[in-house]
Amino acid sequence: MTKRFAFVLLLLLLSASLFGADTDIFSFANSISGKVIWDSRTGSGQVATSRYVYNFIPGIPWVVTDKGDKIGQDAVYLKDGMVMIPEALAKAITTYQRGSVKKDTSGHRVAAIFIDPGHGGKDPGAIGTHKKNGRTFKVMEKTAVLEVGKKLRTQLVSTYPDKKILMSRTGDTYPTLDERAKMANRVKLGPNETILFVSIHANASLKPQANGFEVWYLPQEYRRTVVDSQSIGSTNKNLLSAVNTITEEELSIESELLAKSVMTGMKDKIGKDIPCRGIKQESWFVVRNTKMPAILIEIGFVTNPKEGELLANTNYLQKISDGIYNGIKDFVYTFEHSGKK
Ligand SMILES: [Zn+2]
Repeated sequence: MTKRFAFVLLLLLLSASLFGADTDIFSFANSISGKVIWDSRTGSGQVATSRYVYNFIPGIPWVVTDKGDKIGQDAVYLKDGMVMIPEALAKAITTYQRGSVKKDTSGHRVAAIFIDPGHGGKDPGAIGTHKKNGRTFKVMEKTAVLEVGKKLRTQLVSTYPDKKILMSRTGDTYPTLDERAKMANRVKLGPNETILFVSIHANASLKPQANGFEVWYLPQEYRRTVVDSQSIGSTNKNLLSAVNTITEEELSIESELLAKSVMTGMKDKIGKDIPCRGIKQESWFVVRNTKMPAILIEIGFVTNPKEGELLANTNYLQKISDGIYNGIKDFVYTFEHSGKK
């Protein structure tokens, strides 16, 4: 340890008491017999112990261990040049370090499912105008997807009383994409817990014959706020992807599994009514920086005469919900019962 470093360390330790229950990184490392490795160039750090290494970046709301586990709590933050560990995170790491959270015994679990019916309020989404028996009627995406979302919530709540089943909207309101992502990101998770993000939309096309349902990985705009940017400069962005490699791999695999599972569930329920357009592969590149497995379902085309009529039919919307529900249920079972994540 250089003299200068020791001096800085001393200053840091002295100032630690100013931040209430949060601890500075050095005192914290000491408490678990670890040492701090700080890379000031990239603005990232590690606390290395004989059992585990914890990787962190100030502002990123989780710590990734060298075993590939993510400890998601409050973010490590910088205060006056000092790296601070929030109390809840310190506790979670300490628990993990003691081994009371063992991968093989506790297992991974889905703690929350976030249902996001697209659009709403001032934003109707896609609109289909059709004629039936000489009468003109309109099908609005925002209305159909909200009904599917609410039916889905009812089913999930009764099956999973121990999971949080949340919705981005339950009425005709318009949360922005940013607000939707923030709502999901704010949900508190324990170690080895995850949240699923399921966005529900309906399609539109200028060609009335376009038809079918499809499942996407989550598009870019939903995930942007996950990398909480205020605290991260451009250097940190590179670094973030490095530290997150493990997380990203897991998330892309999980998102794909979830998408496949939901597609299969929907095929079983509505595959005879409308064609399945499959899973959209382009999304492989967008998994960077996701914090949770996430999919977007296009339940059908409001602009197609046959589907427009179906999407205005509450019994059919229930069938769609049944399909999504079965897909989620299969995914949850696999996720929580496979030895691997
Ligand atoms: Zn939409």
